[in-house]
Amino acid sequence: MRPGLYIHVPFCAAKCAYCDFYSLRRPADMERWTEAVITEYALRAPHYLPDPSVGWNTLYIGGGTPSSLPLPLLSRLMASLSGIHRLEEATIEANPEDVTPRWLEAVAGLGFNRVSMGIQSFDDAQLSDVGRRHDSATARRALTYLAGSGLDFSADLIYGLPGQSLESWQHSLRALLDFSPSHFSAYHLSYEPGTRLYARLQAGKVTEASDSLVADMYALLTDEASRRGYLHYEISNFALPGHEAIHNSSYWDYRPYLGLGPGAHSFSGTARASNPPHLSRYLSALLASDPALPLEVEEESAAELVNDLIITALRTSRGLSLTRLSAVATPAQFDVILSEARKLAASGLLLLTDTSIVIPERNFLLSDHILRSLILES
Ligand code: SF4
Repeated sequence: MRPGLYIHVPFCAAKCAYCDFYSLRRPADMERWTEAVITEYALRAPHYLPDPSVGWNTLYIGGGTPSSLPLPLLSRLMASLSGIHRLEEATIEANPEDVTPRWLEAVAGLGFNRVSMGIQSFDDAQLSDVGRRHDSATARRALTYLAGSGLDFSADLIYGLPGQSLESWQHSLRALLDFSPSHFSAYHLSYEPGTRLYARLQAGKVTEASDSLVADMYALLTDEASRRGYLHYEISNFALPGHEAIHNSSYWDYRPYLGLGPGAHSFSGTARASNPPHLSRYLSALLASDPALPLEVEEESAAELVNDLIITALRTSRGLSLTRLSAVATPAQFDVILSEARKLAASGLLLLTDTSIVIPERNFLLSDHILRSLILES
């Protein structure tokens, strides 16, 4: 199983009100960040890919805003990565304001075959309310460029935004799907502690979309996606047949990946590790004359490893393979989980077959509740 490679670009021109990804407004540090990532790659890649001729399976440059990275730095970074000659998929994330024909041509020339773009909404008032820097006209222009670029592309939308009606959600969804992306993601807005939107919620300045509105938005989403031929293959992800995101699927399929950059996570196949989300510490550790890794290894108990498998696998439409579960869980743990799954299946929340446990599409919105019942105490 060839591993994936993820690189976290921790720079954004400004912070969106709902975002809890690690990103900063420090463009002056981009050059030093590039050098630090190159050093981190040299130190860690041999542990994940001992023989570079085998090659990484996928590359995903995410953030933050990778499209804000100047092209000479992106080009320097790509030139320093060994083992990217056999990539099944090479994705770079972009914001609509950065997508131009010149940029698309440049990233294609660097070996990327897929762009993932954050649009979130086609309503200008909603975009400005959550601090996005593009408007709907910019998003349409970027989608037009992408559609003519020959690159595969995906785009993100959010439903349940403050003030968003069912009609407005339908408008955004249809506006995106009219560009026929091969893949798209639709996220239910979550109010994450520490974000500006969460503070506004706490101060009573915005209200959360009601459960019934969210349920209607979700029903509209799944109907529209299915009518247009998309497969709902993961809670928030939809793809035309054959266009499922290969890199992101490795997270849900429990496959190994190396994550570089501050805030990036890695999974060796048996253990997880992460770089603290702290750019200054990351730069000083890796740019020192004797570079060190700022890495923190996450010690997981046996129960946590099983829970990891349950949580990641049940996000997908394929669900959790019982063979896989029995390989990771002890017989006693397996019995506890199966007995809980039988109860959930009896109440219609789960599908339980001889080979797998699956959350049906109609219940994806209830997945937090279902997972809480299934996971083991750790
Ligand atoms: S552009 Fe993306 S990563 Fe940056 S703040 Fe906005 S949502 Fe977060």
